[in-house]
Parts: sequence; C-alpha cells; structure tokens
Amino acid sequence: MMRSVEITTVLTGQFRAPGFHNLHWRSRIGMNLDCFICERTGRTTYIELGAERAVCSGDRVRGEHFTAARIAAFDRTEERERLTLRAVVDFWWAPFQDEKRDRAASALTASPWVRLHLGHHCPENQVSGEATIQSNMVRPVDIRCESCGQLLASSIEAPTIRLLN
Ligand SMILES: [Zn+2]
Ligand SMILES: [Zn+2]
Repeated sequence: MMRSVEITTVLTGQFRAPGFHNLHWRSRIGMNLDCFICERTGRTTYIELGAERAVCSGDRVRGEHFTAARIAAFDRTEERERLTLRAVVDFWWAPFQDEKRDRAASALTASPWVRLHLGHHCPENQVSGEATIQSNMVRPVDIRCESCGQLLASSIEAPTIRLLN
C-alpha cells in the first residue's frame, strides 16, 4: 500500500544579513525505510526530487537497488531568521518479516532517521559548498562555511518525521 511520511525541519540564522551565503535546501533526501524488495528493515534510501524511483542501499548480500519512493512535496520557506523545509515522501509499503533482525516491517520504520542536504555559496572566496543535517546528531548543530568559517545556520531541534497515512 502507498504510505506517506512528512519531514519538517527548521534552521535558525541571519539569512538576510550582509555576507549572505545563499544557504538553501537541496532536493535530495536520505532516510531509512523498511524495504519490501530486499525485505530488510531500516534501509537507508536516497530520494531525489523529480525522480520517479529511489535507491535503497540494500544489504551486503543484495546491494543497491531501485525502490518505489518519491518526493511528493518539497516546500522550502526562507524568512529573515528561519529556513524551513517541509517534505512529503510517498513510498510503497508491504508487510514482511526481516529474518536477520527478527523484526516485522512497519510503515514508519522502528527508529526513523533522515539526512537533509544543503548548498551554499561563499561570496568571499567564490566557491560553492555543501552541508548535511541528520536527525541523530547531538544538538544544537552549527553549519559553517568550510571556506571562510562563517556561521551560516544552526539546527536546534532534530527534524520531525511523521506518518501521514
Ligand atoms: Zn531494499
Ligand atoms: Zn564563506
């Protein structure tokens, strides 16, 4: 059956201050899902906005493979001091038993985890950079420009992951 998960997260910072690095959410999500194809729970899955299928990292026996997941909504909001992302991921879910972990698959995997990607551009050194935030980091997390060291944003709370249906 088709299931949907909503991911929301907020970064705080001074997004319109001088020296603005054009910090923005990139349209790629890594998250863990219970995969009905390789029948393993908690598989890291990579999903790109606009792609009709996603990639499950599989396991040692069966490596990466395509799976049925897509980004259904990707709403980015930029305010003076808040950078917000709300994304909805649709994926196909079917029940199975993970033989290795002796655990039944669930629509929202037992310990949901997400990685969100950001891009930025350093006006001082004219180089582009990347950053990621993950739900399992110790917070607060500071995001800095690797080139000039400027503080670009902070992640105070972990992203929320919620099953919609
Ligand atoms: Zn899989
Ligand atoms: Zn910089």
